[in-house]
Order: sequence, then C-alpha cells, then structure tokens
Amino acid sequence: MQPNQQIVRTAWQLENQTAVLVAHALRHLQLEQSVVDGYGTGGDGSGRSSGDSSSTERAALLRESLTTSRESIKAEIEALIDRVSNLDGLLRKTLGNRVPTHLPTLCDGRKYEGWSDPWTPGSKDERNGWSKPDCREVAGPSGLCLSCRARAQRWRERNNLGDIAA
Ligand SMILES: [Zn+2]
Repeated sequence: MQPNQQIVRTAWQLENQTAVLVAHALRHLQLEQSVVDGYGTGGDGSGRSSGDSSSTERAALLRESLTTSRESIKAEIEALIDRVSNLDGLLRKTLGNRVPTHLPTLCDGRKYEGWSDPWTPGSKDERNGWSKPDCREVAGPSGLCLSCRARAQRWRERNNLGDIAA
C-alpha cells in the first residue's frame, strides 16, 4: 500500500525546509536580542540616539517583540507536534474499530396497513394511526423498530387484523 502522498510531501517539507528555517529564525532572534541587550545595558553605545531614556524604552519594546516572536514560533511547533499525535491517535482508533459487515436497516412501515395514517403522539383517540414516516430507528426483523412495531400491533388489534409475523 502506498503511503499518503500529502503526508509524505509535508514530512519532506518539514525536514528539509521548516526545520532549517526554524533553526535560522531562532538564531536570528538570538542575534537581534544580543544587539538589543547591548543598547539596554549601555553596551558599546554605538547607534544610540541622543536621549538615553528613549533608547532604553525602545530597547524594552524590541526585547518584548523578540520574546513574542520566539514564543509564537515555539507555540506553533508545539501545536504542530500535537496535531500530528492527534492524527496518529485518530488513525489508530479508526483501525481498531471493526469494519461493519452490513449497514443497518432503518424502520420502514410502508408495507403495513395503516401506513398512510400517521400517529399523533399523546392522542387517546381510538382512531389514532400508528405510522411515524420520519422514524430513523434501526429496524428489527419486521422491518419496524420496536416502538413502531408495538404501535402497529396495537393498531392491528383495534382494527381486527392479524399479528405482525416477525
Ligand atoms: Zn420506527
């Protein structure tokens, strides 16, 4: 069986591009950080603007933005790893489930007398019908679900019809 090509391509991209870009980006942030640290702590002072307080303020803002970038990258990596394990879990769970051998038959009373006469829930009227055309329960051998079968059976007794066979 061929492995899924979308996953294979993404794995290739992760290994050959993303992993390399992450390393470069983190290194880049580190270099920027050391420059900003130089400003903030006095450092060599090169490039410092006239006002000490404003360059300290700027350094603080830059430091904050570098921290945000670093944290965003780390959060994305963690989310990616999480998604991969979620997919893995979903696939294992799917494979653990048995493949159904047949689809269940849903309740369908069209072959029984009185089908055209729908049931009104709660009605005490003796002439109340039994059929529930929108019933989506799984059918038993009669072709009806248990509650439709019971209603149809009572309706047949009231109308002097024979029992439902199955
Ligand atoms: Zn039913």
